[in-house]
Amino acid sequence: MITNIRNRFRISRSLFVIFSITASLIACGQTGGYTRPAVTDNYDVYKKQVKSDPVKKMLELKKLIPGIIYDLRYASVNNFMKRLMYPAGTNITFLRAPAANALSQVQVELNQKGLGLKIFDAYRPYSVTVKFWELVKDERYVANPSKGSGHNRGTTVDLTIINLQTKKELNMGTDFDNFSDSAHHGFTALPEDVLQNRILLKTTMEKYGFKPYNDEWWHYSFFDGKQYEILDIDFKKLKKAL
Ligand SMILES: [Zn+2]
Repeated sequence: MITNIRNRFRISRSLFVIFSITASLIACGQTGGYTRPAVTDNYDVYKKQVKSDPVKKMLELKKLIPGIIYDLRYASVNNFMKRLMYPAGTNITFLRAPAANALSQVQVELNQKGLGLKIFDAYRPYSVTVKFWELVKDERYVANPSKGSGHNRGTTVDLTIINLQTKKELNMGTDFDNFSDSAHHGFTALPEDVLQNRILLKTTMEKYGFKPYNDEWWHYSFFDGKQYEILDIDFKKLKKAL
């Protein structure tokens, strides 16, 4: 009898704990202002996805693209958040194989003109998108995590063009992550050389399958992005050979 009462007490206590956790999760979801989409956050699951469909492989850009330069802004405090969003010292970045291969063709074409690519950001783990959202909560500046972004899927890249000799960036009129109208493709009240530099980046990226985003001259997404899972796997794990 006593055992039965104890068991009943345990069961009701467990139910109470489950209820409390569920209630707090619902509350978190509401205050967070987003619903978590399906996310691949387990390396072994990612490995299986790649095994059944090799185009899903994430390739490290420097390994594939000779001479590509990194200025990974979220691995430093030189970004609009003024804080480190990636682990300090992160100096690797990734795209899915078809996007990475297309970007390597962009580099070849630019190199023939004495120019090259500089990368500000590419793959961004989903948990970092959530972190951005929790800090800013404004869709004008950061993506709502409900859908996940092309950066999370490994098919979107933020970049500019440099002169190979001087290593300096071509003048694009604004810095990366400038949220004013002057960063828009439709904004034409800019010096002719700035407009030409943006057009060069846009036409070369489009030629190899990337789509521009009107509000950010630096942001390009590979055309077939939606077929890839949203990932939340850290850079170091992705670096491991499959
Ligand atoms: Zn971007």
